[in-house]
Amino acid sequence: MKNIIARAAAIAAALGIAWGTPVMAHDDGTWSLAIHGGAGTLERSDMSPERDAAYRAALQTALDAGAAILKNGGSAVDAIEAAILVMEDDARFNAGRGAVFTWDGTHELDASIMDGRDRAAGAVAGVTGIRHPITLARKVMADGTHVMLSGRGAEEFAAEQGLETMPPEWFDTDARREALERLKAEKLSAIDVDIKFGTVGAVALDKDGNLAAGTSTGGMTGKRWGRIGDAPVIGAGTYADNSSCAVSATGWGEYFIRAGVARTICARVHMLGESAQAAADAVIADVGQMGGDGGVIVVAPNGDAVFSMNTGGMYRGRATSAGASEVAIFADE
Ligand code: ASP
Repeated sequence: MKNIIARAAAIAAALGIAWGTPVMAHDDGTWSLAIHGGAGTLERSDMSPERDAAYRAALQTALDAGAAILKNGGSAVDAIEAAILVMEDDARFNAGRGAVFTWDGTHELDASIMDGRDRAAGAVAGVTGIRHPITLARKVMADGTHVMLSGRGAEEFAAEQGLETMPPEWFDTDARREALERLKAEKLSAIDVDIKFGTVGAVALDKDGNLAAGTSTGGMTGKRWGRIGDAPVIGAGTYADNSSCAVSATGWGEYFIRAGVARTICARVHMLGESAQAAADAVIADVGQMGGDGGVIVVAPNGDAVFSMNTGGMYRGRATSAGASEVAIFADE
């Protein structure tokens, strides 16, 4: 291990790469966006054709919202927020409206955002009643005093910032309530009832060569004791650095925190010179070896937009200046 670190540091030094500096300048109009709407046990047999089509349409709407901004020369941060806002309002996804229920029948929302330009970051954990947690995370980043706010304090900050709130029932959905009831009645774990996790995220490269990443979630069904997953943890669920990549994760948060997933992917790209795909695959394999499951979306400074998962599927999509605009659900697509 020591050898690998020494070798990586030597390579980075030889290449003159410092953290936080862009590896590649962009003046060719390259932009790129990837989104996810959660990874999990997704079987084709669970999906009616109507359901399948509705999810794909929802992903395409979010993708189009972000892509339109990038196409017009907008920033990566604006693009990922726009894509996530769409999914937070869509009750199909476990973020904002449609978030899973906690053990106590509430919704505690987590979100984070990171700007690859200067590695500014903002995160909120365990907030209730906030319509758009990703916007609150962005306000935390813009304020700049702190990186992560939780619970009541975060809600007070949201009120000061004039963020929109919604009554508890606005977040409720029958499917998520049934999942909580089943978890309690059958003494199941969140993994058993969260057939598809449903967390949302987006990563982008804008025409100026800047990267950004964001993630938003209700966490895991039946969570207790103020449990916080990886989504609001910078370096676990979200990371962006112009010199390496932008990552948003979804999956069994405890493992993603322990493996430091998002930061490790970017560190491998930066220090070992791996491609975004190779780094993402290696880290997801590591999570799998620990016993966790899930997936990531990654965008690299050269415009590559890649996915990696060890689950049956991940709701996902990507759009690039090279003309790609596609959504997918199952791992083998
Ligand atoms: N990673 C999220 C959490 O652990 C859940 C998910 O991605 O579905 O809170």
